[in-house]
Amino acid sequence: MRFLRLASIFVFLIFACGWVAGCVRGTMETPPYKTSVLPVEQRVQDLLGRMTLQEKVSMLRGAGWMESAAVERLGIPSIKMADGPMGVGSWLGSSAITHWLKPAQPLASTAFPAGVAIAATWDPELAKDEGQVIGQEMKALGRDMILGPTVNIQRVPLWGRNFEGYGEDPYLAGQMAIGYIEGVQGEGVIATVKHFVANNQEYERQRVDAEVDERALHEIYLPAFKAAVEQAHVWSVMSAYNRVNGAYCAQNTPLLKEVLQKDWGFEGFVVSDWRSTYSTAPTVNAGMDIEMPGGGITKTWLKGAIVQASENRGTWLTSEKVLSEVSAANISTVTIDDNVSRILRVIFTSGIFDHRHVASGLVDTPGQRAVARRAAAESIVLLKNEGSLLPLDLWKVRSIAVIGPNAAVARTGGGGSSLVHPKYAITPLDGIKERAGNQVRILYAMGNSMEGEDAAKDTPAAQEQLRNEAVAVAAKADAAMVFVGYSPKFEAEDFDRETMDLPSGQDDLIQAVAKANRNTIVIFNAGAPITMSKWADSVPAILDMFYGGQEGGHGIADVLFGDVNPSGKLPFSFIKEWKDSPAYGHYPGVNLRVDYAEGIYVGYRYFDKHNIALQYPFGYGLSYSKFDYSGFQVTPRRISGTQPIKVSLDLRNSGSRAGAEVVELYVHDGHSSVERPIKELRGFRRVELAPGETKGVSFMLDRSSLSYYSTAKKGWVAEPGEFEVLVGTSSEDIRLKGKFYLKQ
Ligand code: BGC
Repeated sequence: MRFLRLASIFVFLIFACGWVAGCVRGTMETPPYKTSVLPVEQRVQDLLGRMTLQEKVSMLRGAGWMESAAVERLGIPSIKMADGPMGVGSWLGSSAITHWLKPAQPLASTAFPAGVAIAATWDPELAKDEGQVIGQEMKALGRDMILGPTVNIQRVPLWGRNFEGYGEDPYLAGQMAIGYIEGVQGEGVIATVKHFVANNQEYERQRVDAEVDERALHEIYLPAFKAAVEQAHVWSVMSAYNRVNGAYCAQNTPLLKEVLQKDWGFEGFVVSDWRSTYSTAPTVNAGMDIEMPGGGITKTWLKGAIVQASENRGTWLTSEKVLSEVSAANISTVTIDDNVSRILRVIFTSGIFDHRHVASGLVDTPGQRAVARRAAAESIVLLKNEGSLLPLDLWKVRSIAVIGPNAAVARTGGGGSSLVHPKYAITPLDGIKERAGNQVRILYAMGNSMEGEDAAKDTPAAQEQLRNEAVAVAAKADAAMVFVGYSPKFEAEDFDRETMDLPSGQDDLIQAVAKANRNTIVIFNAGAPITMSKWADSVPAILDMFYGGQEGGHGIADVLFGDVNPSGKLPFSFIKEWKDSPAYGHYPGVNLRVDYAEGIYVGYRYFDKHNIALQYPFGYGLSYSKFDYSGFQVTPRRISGTQPIKVSLDLRNSGSRAGAEVVELYVHDGHSSVERPIKELRGFRRVELAPGETKGVSFMLDRSSLSYYSTAKKGWVAEPGEFEVLVGTSSEDIRLKGKFYLKQ
């Protein structure tokens, strides 16, 4: 017995020692790059050292429509991408599926309001929540990298992609981008800030040269990217299609090497826009790291008519071409190492090397939908509300006529790569009916069809008949709501709007309904200003709902019925007509060159300087409450060096409803040696207040808030002297002013 016990202990010890030795050997054999606890840089260098030149070069080009190249031998995963920014783009399972090459079953995901709508919330926390949901859904769909946010500035009101971006102001765009990126990347998903840079028109986007002066580039077009890199530490940047000052963005050494890598310290990788590369060695040498798309699908696509008609095939970073440039000593292996190490760094930092995202999770959960609904309601801008017609008083309004081409159709987003396919979408009519229940009678008439959607309804006679039906319905109701605006066929990627006018028949419809019902409310879908001169004065209420995502119909009902107090503010100046724009006369360019002649005077910076009357100013939006500004303090009055300035005030909700006010802070430098705008946004806060409640609001301004970009010094400069702080509820409604002095 004793012998048996000793023997079993002996056997156990032999096995245990063997197991321990095996473990030790195993650990020692695990290469550093596979050891997740080691520092990222060590893993990157170790992995790089194990790769052949061929393997490295293979990573510089996509392996599919939405996938980067994997290196199976070493376990390097491909990065699976999806279009953004308003939700997860509906590419199917693998990059072999695209929406135009194959009629595929689209993947459903939550459709958020358009970027411009998110900007209208002036709520970076909301952008962060949106980013987080998108990150969660990306993982649930087995994707690793979202192609968003879009932060190109609204320079031209006609730009087809205005709806995707965050408006005209670089500071606002930067703050919203930070929120979005932090939300996405907090989930271990790669965010991609795009399109770097000066992609401000669709017209000839693949060939046009944006001639932008250095100061405008740094003060207007670059800051949102800078904020994304320096403050949100974005992992990926997408280069734009166009040229900037002569060089294509994908091979623009001053922008990619100098600004992005050297000045801002960007450590992630640059991905090209789809077919936006134009060379091999200059592109690799400039620091453009992954050419997209690639793989078999690209071959079919390249044979397509659109690509054939254009001058560029976009197959510049194939292994064959890159290796041949390496052999010819036009690209060094040090450069290849740097580009590849950027991709590896992101693969390690994001966690996708160690934990692949496997499609298995839930998408469009109640919690995720709730964020979309909050975003839809928070983004709506109440532009006019004469006689406090809104919110609807259900004691007086017992019947509502819901009218218009956008009433019974959910216009969730603009057209192009950003359009998300949701599981469902709430139309304004659905949202209103649901909210009204049995309390209010809802009548409906289309009134006018969306131009181009049904040719038979576009004739003058058909329009008149539809309009008459709408007038008859409006005349019977206590209030009329006219839903107008665009469709994704009118406002989209790939082309610009031809005018700021509403599509055919819509102006006439509004005018006719307004005559039939004095309580006419106009609500429109658009990503930029529209001309409203024909009816703006003859209707008592106007709301801009942009493109509200899948919950747009609920969002607008929430606001119309007063369940949500509107708090959205315009992220762009609402001009009266196209010729008021600073870009007018400098768009779309001549001989494929567009001169950004207005320089830094974009948006309100220009309208302030030239005193141009607007339909509605930048930062404008009404509430059902009133907010009083008082107790203004700027301390200290004199500062030096890097000392910050504290600006504080008291904000009171003197209305009878809970609501949120966006407090906007602008700075004016009146003593500068160079010309500076009359005001520049340098801070904002969205503050929620109960009726009668007062809250203290404070801002800290540092030197960067006072600086301009000096072309002489090639950097940001704050010149000593007196500065003015302007705090208000829009760029034209300044409620508080104060001064301080900057010493040397
Ligand atoms: C767009 C990008 C988009 C890409 C992939 C391009 O045409 O400009 O924003 O991410 O296509 O769909």
